[in-house]
Amino acid sequence: MPKIVVVGSINMDLVVLTSRYPEIGETLTGEGFMTFAGGKGANQAVAASRLGSSVVMLGCVGNDAFGRELSARLLNEGVDTAWVDVIEEVETGVAAITVAGGDNAIVVIPGANHRLSEAHVQAAERVIRDADVVLSQLEVPMPTVLAAARMARKHGKPFILNPAPASALPDALYSSIDLLVPNETEATLLTGITVRDPASAEEAARSLLARGVRSVLITLGANGVAVIDDAGERHLPAHVVKAVDTTAAGDTFIGGLTAGLVEGMAMDEAVALGQRASALCVTRHGAQPSIPYRREIA
Ligand code: ADP
Repeated sequence: MPKIVVVGSINMDLVVLTSRYPEIGETLTGEGFMTFAGGKGANQAVAASRLGSSVVMLGCVGNDAFGRELSARLLNEGVDTAWVDVIEEVETGVAAITVAGGDNAIVVIPGANHRLSEAHVQAAERVIRDADVVLSQLEVPMPTVLAAARMARKHGKPFILNPAPASALPDALYSSIDLLVPNETEATLLTGITVRDPASAEEAARSLLARGVRSVLITLGANGVAVIDDAGERHLPAHVVKAVDTTAAGDTFIGGLTAGLVEGMAMDEAVALGQRASALCVTRHGAQPSIPYRREIA
């Protein structure tokens, strides 16, 4: 089975539900508490696995209860966790999410995710050599992402980068990216071009191509995606669905896209798989619980 190596983050999302935000110094009685497996790396790994790919996760957790639970859940999803390193002196990454009314306020503690190093990438060289695609995001240190891109290039493997959360990229990284997949916010930050529709997305995509990226795909939420690659520029509209929660839409899209590409699909066909998966995802609540399985995508 074709194999994806995800070099990325693993978090526990801690969700506090409350009727309003507390004032500084105030203690409030809230309405509920939930924990969800998260982290962009783990979400994309789970999405690709549920959509039928063989996935290896390269990441770090702490030697704590969250780390053990997250590793167990990934394994349960069929993701190979042999390359998830347990770091002794630091905690597993968490996102503390306070939801009040329709708003949320989030504090992310990267913890062990920031210990995923170039040395981890070097140690996993044979896994990357045996992979078909390497996929990364920006919740792990930039030098690690750069090392992953270079290792992929060394072994002739496509490197896909989802530049999220939005952050500038080192110039040296662009030429090692085969496929860059930002959303509107990320594309705007990277290019300085305000991306809000297919036309502005194509302009931003062209400017990213000029920096040395081979192909660019900008996700536009309910407006679908703008693609620019060897076959030219095009806009592929999203499915029209009743969205109830767009959490993990991007992660599901990227997991599906990557799963399609490693199966040998052409770009537009792989995008279609990502779009079908993410359209289903937005009709359900939550992050990982809303990611569909291949059998649901008829
Ligand atoms: P992110 O979550 O990273 O901001 P987007 O919101 O751009 O990512 O969504 C990624 C993909 O998910 C879109 O390209 C689209 O295919 C799908 N999607 C997102 N929102 C919707 C929606 N409301 N209806 C249908 N598809 C959607």
